[in-house]
Amino acid sequence: MNRTKLSYWEREQYFTGIDVFIAGSGIVGINAALQLKKRFPSMKIVIGERGVIPTGASTKNAGFACFGSMTELIDDLTRMSEDEVLALVERRFRGLARLRNMVGDANMDLQMLGGYEVFEDSESFKECADRIGEFNEKMKKTIGLSNVYSVADDKITSFGLGNVKHMILNSGEGQINSGAMMSTLISLAKQEGIQFMNGIEIESYSRKGKELEIQTTGGFSFNAANLFICTNGFAKTILPELNVEPARAQVLITKEIPGLKLRGTFHYDKGYYYFRNVGNRVLFGGGRNLNFSGENTVSHELTEQIQQRLDELLKKVILPGTSYEVDMRWAGTMGVGEVKSPIVKEIEPGVYCAVRMGGMGVALGSLVGEEVAAMVR
Ligand SMILES: Cc1cc2nc3c(=O)[nH]c(=O)nc-3n(C[C@H](O)[C@H](O)[C@H](O)COP(=O)(O)OP(=O)(O)OC[C@H]3O[C@@H](n4cnc5c(N)ncnc54)[C@H](O)[C@@H]3O)c2cc1C
Repeated sequence: MNRTKLSYWEREQYFTGIDVFIAGSGIVGINAALQLKKRFPSMKIVIGERGVIPTGASTKNAGFACFGSMTELIDDLTRMSEDEVLALVERRFRGLARLRNMVGDANMDLQMLGGYEVFEDSESFKECADRIGEFNEKMKKTIGLSNVYSVADDKITSFGLGNVKHMILNSGEGQINSGAMMSTLISLAKQEGIQFMNGIEIESYSRKGKELEIQTTGGFSFNAANLFICTNGFAKTILPELNVEPARAQVLITKEIPGLKLRGTFHYDKGYYYFRNVGNRVLFGGGRNLNFSGENTVSHELTEQIQQRLDELLKKVILPGTSYEVDMRWAGTMGVGEVKSPIVKEIEPGVYCAVRMGGMGVALGSLVGEEVAAMVR
């Protein structure tokens, strides 16, 4: 459909005079819009989203409000300097505070039940346990929390876990209802007069004098002074040169399990697997390490290899001896790259991107939205 089929009213209201057009209505895109409105209350902001609802990672994730388990940080230290690792922890922690401030704990059902790291062997546990004091000091300096990490072996039986030898608790972590979080953000944005256009897939943009013309696959085009690309794992379709790759993450959730003992968020096998309770259900995901190259896709199809492994571990480690049924299975797309940090930058005058949240977007999304909004002059 092209412009000539629009009415004058439609053209003026929806397609022109836009100060900032944001591609993608995930946690980053919406937070960017809200922060822009704070800075420039009269701005006309339109968010174009390809799905009927947001269809990226923000509504498909596991809802861990986390900033770093010990094996994750130890692993990061093999690739990044200590300053970089701690700076990322600090950003995640600050991002979570921003999210809580913006959304409100009750509106996303935040529960600070703690985050646990689960160990099947004593060797990797010992490496972490020996460094608890050192890491607690680093956390105290970086985020101001005392005694973040502690051994929590006494909880293994009470959570009903099988084949688990040791656990380390991160007392500063929690869990949210990601659907409620996104729904609240969308309501807040609508209250601020931010326009949402769903079913709009941005294909490309070009410069037309002082403005940008933003083309969509449906044939519509928008004229805007600025464009934000907040499409995370899908960003390469608009900006092929960006260093961001899609990474599929597969998840399942059980039906309600009467008397479920599990409470909290859990990382297993160096974080390649993660599980939590959702009320009396268990949400369980991971297994990308079984086929990294195959999972480098924007497809939301499930694979037998990973789903089978999830089924095995669910039975053996998480719910041994418990009868349960799997209710749903799904997949989402993360944005990852060689470097474990978001790309927040001005691509060219008036065109900005804020992508590559990895598995950290619940924590980082609000802050990254704020950072990209601050770049607009
Ligand atoms: C299964 C899974 C579990 C996860 N678990 C956690 C967790 O527990 N904790 C955590 O912190 N993080 C987790 N993550 C990561 C986290 O969800 C993401 O980092 C975060 O949601 C990214 O937000 P975003 O706004 O950058 O991108 P997205 O939420 O992916 O939003 C991008 C939006 O852009 C839209 N879009 C794409 N292309 C176009 C286009 N061309 N035109 C218009 N719109 C477009 C998409 O439909 C989407 O709505 C998980 C991710 C997955 C997939």
